[in-house]
Amino acid sequence: MSQPLFDRAALIGIGLVGSSLARVLRQGGLAREIVACARRPATLDTVTRLGLADHVTVDPAEAAAGADLVVLSTPLSAYAEIGRRIAPALKPGAVVSDVGSVKAAAIRDLAPLLPPGVHLVPAHPVAGTEHSGPENGFAEMFADRWCILTPLPGGDAGALDRVTRMWQSAGMRVVTMDAEHHDMVLAITSHLPHLIAYTIVGTATDLEEMLKSEVIKFSAGGFRDFTRIAASDPVMWRDIFLANREAVLEMLQRFTEDLTALQRAIRWGEGDKLQDLFTRTRTIRRSIIEAKQA
Ligand code: NAP
Repeated sequence: MSQPLFDRAALIGIGLVGSSLARVLRQGGLAREIVACARRPATLDTVTRLGLADHVTVDPAEAAAGADLVVLSTPLSAYAEIGRRIAPALKPGAVVSDVGSVKAAAIRDLAPLLPPGVHLVPAHPVAGTEHSGPENGFAEMFADRWCILTPLPGGDAGALDRVTRMWQSAGMRVVTMDAEHHDMVLAITSHLPHLIAYTIVGTATDLEEMLKSEVIKFSAGGFRDFTRIAASDPVMWRDIFLANREAVLEMLQRFTEDLTALQRAIRWGEGDKLQDLFTRTRTIRRSIIEAKQA
């Protein structure tokens, strides 16, 4: 057990990611006290049953009062409202962080609301599953994954250090970058693949009944992997696309051009072009395996 990094950690949003962080804080003894906040009493009952927090509340301000760490783990569209509610309750020197998948929008929605002397350290632990809710969280979810911090220029070095150490204690490799750069990188590595999965599964769903049952029956390999991705939380992903609009549209434009080039190669029987691309992409897979991110 390490020395606690925080006295009172308030976890606002305690679903898959928030509850996994609660488990890390608990197991590592990183916070003396954990307060969990969600909208629905049923969620808080689960949190209590699982022993993930010392206190639970539906009121974000009550959770944040007296906390030296506040972490938002809700869908991005809830940030501004939560920011407004917690701002008057935050104590001087408190660290406010989050786990949201888009960083420029998180900063846009939170930074202007926080009182002076409160330190914002935006974070994105790049780890997860397609499941939601506190019963699906697990501390090991973060192990050997990357956590991207997007600190604001001139931000507090001590706050950054404590958030860094928290995610390192979860087994994560922590890196810092500019929020806009983060959003561009994640647009191609995560957001676009989800959009493609939603499209393919949607197209199959739109096919007539008979064909649909054939699709499910023969869904080995490729399609099955897409259905797993497309089973991710609809609200969370709606928010990600709206919050990362510019970067996603930019990547989608490039992707559409490349798809058209492939379409053309198939139409004109240009097997060498297809094979060249498939050979290049295979090496990407190998490097992901070598980097232990498979
Ligand atoms: P989740 O399992 O659905 O949990 C969401 C939590 O937020 C629940 O406790 C929910 O409370 C609360 N919540 C939802 N809407 C709210 C609102 N309007 N106001 C206040 N609280 C609200 O979601 P998650 O997968 O943990 O994702 C949370 C965040 O993590 C998202 O911003 C996402 O971008 C980011 N993230 C997700 C993943 C992933 O793979 N899932 C990975 C990295 C980062 P109730 O249960 O009471 O509704």
